[in-house]
Amino acid sequence: MTLSFDPDSLSLPKGHFIGGRLIEAPGQLPIERPSDAKAYWECPVADANIVDQAVDTAKKTLQESRWGVIRPRERTKAMQRWADLIEQEAITLARLEAVGSTRPVGHLIAGDIAATAEQIRFFAEFADKEGSDLVPTDDGSLGMIMTEPYGVVGAITPWNFPLSMAGWKLGPALAAGNAVVLKPSEMTSFSTLFLAELAVRAGLPAGLINIVLGDGATTGNAITGHPGIAKVSFTGSTGAGSAIMANIARTGVKPMTLELGGKSPQLVFADADLDLAAGAIASGILSNAGQACVAGSRVIVEERVADALTEALVARFAAIRPGPTWHQATDYPPIISERQIGRMDSIIRATIESGAECLSGGMRLGREGYFYAPTLLRGVTATSPAVLEEIFGPVLTIQTFEDEEAALSLADHPTYGLAAGLFTRDLSRAIRLTRRLQAGTVWVNRYGRSRDHILPTGGYKQSGIGKDLGRDAYLANRKSKSVLISL
Ligand code: NAD
Repeated sequence: MTLSFDPDSLSLPKGHFIGGRLIEAPGQLPIERPSDAKAYWECPVADANIVDQAVDTAKKTLQESRWGVIRPRERTKAMQRWADLIEQEAITLARLEAVGSTRPVGHLIAGDIAATAEQIRFFAEFADKEGSDLVPTDDGSLGMIMTEPYGVVGAITPWNFPLSMAGWKLGPALAAGNAVVLKPSEMTSFSTLFLAELAVRAGLPAGLINIVLGDGATTGNAITGHPGIAKVSFTGSTGAGSAIMANIARTGVKPMTLELGGKSPQLVFADADLDLAAGAIASGILSNAGQACVAGSRVIVEERVADALTEALVARFAAIRPGPTWHQATDYPPIISERQIGRMDSIIRATIESGAECLSGGMRLGREGYFYAPTLLRGVTATSPAVLEEIFGPVLTIQTFEDEEAALSLADHPTYGLAAGLFTRDLSRAIRLTRRLQAGTVWVNRYGRSRDHILPTGGYKQSGIGKDLGRDAYLANRKSKSVLISL
């Protein structure tokens, strides 16, 4: 069976998912399909009243269903049924995601959807395994650290991996006993709505997951500033993360997890397996056309192998298979919007004007939609715009070094510290440098996440606060209470 489909054949939901059903709402923000630049849908915008309704519903559902205090295994079982349904409905989910996002349908089936189902099962298992602690005290006392859910968690996700990002937020929050009000990106709403519908079909209480659509200024602000939201979990740009911190400070202090931007380096030493490094680096910047928070966008290579690595990268950049996200064969998707292409183009131009050489790309791909050629820039410096700014596109810079100290100094970014790649056959060097790299994740002789959901993800510096995935994400969705009983 082919996975390819006709994008005009889908019936697309337009509304908010509150209390277990779609509440239809008029479209307000015109949205385009990046694959063919066609305006195809309008996103409703939930105002403060609708966000109120979603938060009240979440609260009431928590009370009535007792989701946070039922036998934890019941939460596990319900979430496992949900994960099963996600797999059974993979084709529908993939189409709803592929139609207007940058995720190719083939990648969704092989990657995002399977990983989301697995990851929900992973968190579901925490519910009845991660508990409270008895702590050492004197003989006349009993000391305990009890943990309990926050209540209603407010979550906000970006457009680049809509389904996976929704899974990262919903999995740990629900397993930990919370209800959720989630706003997906206004550009990619459908898969999140369907995910919530599947949860109800799987038997999770209707009203436990509430999805409100809209932009950051109206809907996002109403969520982060809502007094009924006990904790905020955000993934998106550093700029929006900082606006959210300000709004939370203004409207009432509450805990937050922020997964923000990156500008991740890839260090290549002369003793590395260059073929392996070139493959990992190419996929680290071309995956989702560079629209990934952990995109490895800065190659830092030992001088004497720089030419060989550059040649291998240029060859790999030429081998992309661009196409609309609804074609099964597509492996190189479009850029999300015309605006984002314009921003990327101007950073590339400014970098070339400041003295860099463009070895490949640097232009749009000649087809309908928002496609941009993989771009390789050499002769950049630490202050080149393409080295400093998160471009969020298929743009790779190359810098060279002669010794480890110089490599580390180039790797250290003034703003970001999300991830780093390191390629060497020298085990001691790998460990030495891993200890010193200022990044929340270091990949050695590989680049990119595996399905080991136990590894937390999160940034150093302005790449974020707190972690998604791993045990950390589960614990971040429970608050702890210290108890001391005098015997
Ligand atoms: P964005 O910050 O523009 O938007 C992200 C989400 O936040 C959207 O839903 C948007 O509507 C909402 N939003 C924007 N301003 C807001 C505000 N003031 N208050 C509340 N909500 C607001 O980001 P984007 O363009 O959707 O996604 C790309 C960015 O996300 C990149 O910077 C990327 O690095 C980052 N990202 C980080 C991770 C991570 O794990 N660290 C993962 C994926 C993406």
